[in-house]
Amino acid sequence: MKLTLLGTANAASIPVYGCECVACQRAMVDPFYRRLNCSALLEFDDQKILIDAGLPDITARFTPGELTKVLITHYHPDHVQGLLHLRWGAGFNIQVLSPKDPVGFADLYRHPGILDFSSRLSAFEPYQMDNLEITPLPLLHSKQTLGYAFRHNGKHFAYLTDTAGLPLDTVHYLAQNRLDVMVIDCAFPPGLAGPLNHNDIDMAILLHQAIKPKKSVLSHISHELDCWLLDNEEYLPSGIVIGHDGQVLR
Ligand SMILES: [Zn+2]
Ligand SMILES: [Zn+2]
Ligand SMILES: [Zn+2]
Repeated sequence: MKLTLLGTANAASIPVYGCECVACQRAMVDPFYRRLNCSALLEFDDQKILIDAGLPDITARFTPGELTKVLITHYHPDHVQGLLHLRWGAGFNIQVLSPKDPVGFADLYRHPGILDFSSRLSAFEPYQMDNLEITPLPLLHSKQTLGYAFRHNGKHFAYLTDTAGLPLDTVHYLAQNRLDVMVIDCAFPPGLAGPLNHNDIDMAILLHQAIKPKKSVLSHISHELDCWLLDNEEYLPSGIVIGHDGQVLR
C-alpha cells in the first residue's frame, strides 16, 4: 500500500494569490514549498484510488481508466471541484465513493457525465475492494465529512481531513487499531483554529498523542501555518511531520 500526497494545502493553496508573506514568497521561488488543494493517491496491488478531487488537472495526471475509483471525504469545492471537468470524459465510467450528502456540489448530481455517485458510504461500515478494506470514520466539519481508514496486508493507514478535533467514536476506533500512518488535518498555528472547521497544531498534536500512530503527517496546511513553522520547526514532537506535495508514504 502506497499513499502519495498530491496536495497538502487548504482551499487557498500556497502561494496564496497576491500574498507577500514569507511562506508564499518562498513558494514562488522554490516549487518544493508549493501546495495544491488537499488530495492523495492510494495505490495497492494494481489499483489506484484518488482521494478527493480538488485538483484542476486530474485528466492531465491520469490516463483514461487509470483510476479505479474516486473516494470523496466531503463536498466542499476544494475537495471536488476537479470533478466538474472530469465528468465530461467519454468511453468509460468512474465510480465515486462519498458520504450520504443529499446536496453534493454544484450540478454534479444532476449532470454526472461519466461519474457514478450511486455508492454512498456510512460511518463504521467497511467497504471492501479486493484485499483493501476501507472503513469510513465520522469527522467534525461544517459539512457532512468522512475520514477513511485503509487496511491492506497487515498495514493500516488513516486519512482524516477536514476536521476540527475528532468524534470520540473515531478516536476510539483509531486508537484500538494500531495505525502505521495517520494523515491529519492541521490548517493553523496554535490559537488560530477560529470557527471550528480545522485543527490547529496543538489540536493535531493532542490527537496524535491520543491515537498513537507510528507516524502522523499534517495536511490541509495554510500559509499562516507555513509562516509560523519557519520560526517554530522544533515545536513538533517526534513522530509528527509536516506533509508536502509529492510525499510518498508506504
Ligand atoms: Zn501568504
Ligand atoms: Zn471542507
Ligand atoms: Zn478542505
